[in-house]
Amino acid sequence: MNIHEYQAKALLRQYGAPVSDGRIVMKADEAKTAASEMDGPLWVVKAQIHAGGRGKGSFKEAEAGEKGGVRLAKSVEEAEELTRQMLGRTLVTHQTGPVGKQVNRIYIEDGSDIARELYLALLVDRQTSRVSFVASTEGGMDIEEVAAHTPEKIVSFSVDPASGLSDFHGRRVAFALGLEGPQVKQCVALVKNLYRLFIEKDMEMLEINPLIVTPEGNIKCLDAKMGFDNNALYRQPDIMALRDETEEDPKELAASKFDLNYIALDGEIGCMVNGAGLAMATMDIIKLFGAEPANFLDVGGGATKEKVTEAFKIITSDPNVKGILVNIFGGIMRCDIIAEGIIAAVKEVGLQVPLVVRLEGTNVDLGKEIIAKSGLNVIAADDLSDAAQKIVKAVKG
Ligand code: GDP
Ligand code: MG
Repeated sequence: MNIHEYQAKALLRQYGAPVSDGRIVMKADEAKTAASEMDGPLWVVKAQIHAGGRGKGSFKEAEAGEKGGVRLAKSVEEAEELTRQMLGRTLVTHQTGPVGKQVNRIYIEDGSDIARELYLALLVDRQTSRVSFVASTEGGMDIEEVAAHTPEKIVSFSVDPASGLSDFHGRRVAFALGLEGPQVKQCVALVKNLYRLFIEKDMEMLEINPLIVTPEGNIKCLDAKMGFDNNALYRQPDIMALRDETEEDPKELAASKFDLNYIALDGEIGCMVNGAGLAMATMDIIKLFGAEPANFLDVGGGATKEKVTEAFKIITSDPNVKGILVNIFGGIMRCDIIAEGIIAAVKEVGLQVPLVVRLEGTNVDLGKEIIAKSGLNVIAADDLSDAAQKIVKAVKG
């Protein structure tokens, strides 16, 4: 789960990391008062969406001369004006995709003067099974770009969880960032605080881009992005409370409410499968026969008719889906229940695209009979490769 920048900064503040003063506003009328509570002479007006690249992004409804979801204001009146321009509009950045995201919250921050922009991140490194630091002198820009063109400017190392973090790690980051004098001490403290925050809140990712050095020589976190481990949210009620469902993929959100494991992908074949392993194998075999899966969907071992219906609705709500492959192994799950679920779902939401069903296991004959008698236009398949070939053929001709 991800959270907004202003929420991430509140956590940083709570853990003693240096951030600017700021106020969140939901209505343009609140902007002037909020900005007045800070001294100026510079304010930053920041669109809050769960995506990076806001500064370089653009609004769909933009008028000439307007650009970016991060703008500087020289007066409280200008801060209000910029807030009014951004609220309710759709911001498109390289991370949102062409659809963009609607801006419903604006963070107004006390503006900082910047001497240097640096990059610092913590993440769970799956290769080493440890928490890694990533530091670069090339802050403010896309780290993927830096990694592609000047990888030597990125320093990365992991922390041994047995011995934990020590000042040495902080000095290593400071050295990588080219910090000097009192900044080194500030950096050591920051690294310690970020690591404690990361561990205590079960984070997956924490990115400060940019981490700045001010003209006075102090370091400060100017942007913050945080992602949390969904499997640990049950023990992080304060983090769970920060969830903003309007930022999430509506299909994935609906799936999570029905306890379905669903991930949207880019392909054209919608998949409904039980069991994560079988779902992976189904995606693989679709690719093997020359098409791409539109989603990963594991309905689970004990899916009910209602769950199957919901899964079907989620798949068909995706406009990219040009065909559906249902691949079920009835172990705990019975094939007749699945068949009833499929029929109920098709009757409820209709079927605009070809549907291939492959059933195997408990009550398979009864399941096949239910589908055959339903009069629905379902293509039956006998095994996994037969099913994959049939759906690819139905979609691609
Ligand atoms: P992002 O584009 O979504 O990553 O949003 P950021 O919060 O990183 O802001 C984008 C850029 O705006 C930063 O890299 C800075 O160059 C600039 N910026 C953000 N806050 C301030 C500020 O307080 N003062 C100044 N001068 N520039 C800022
Ligand atoms: Mg940034």
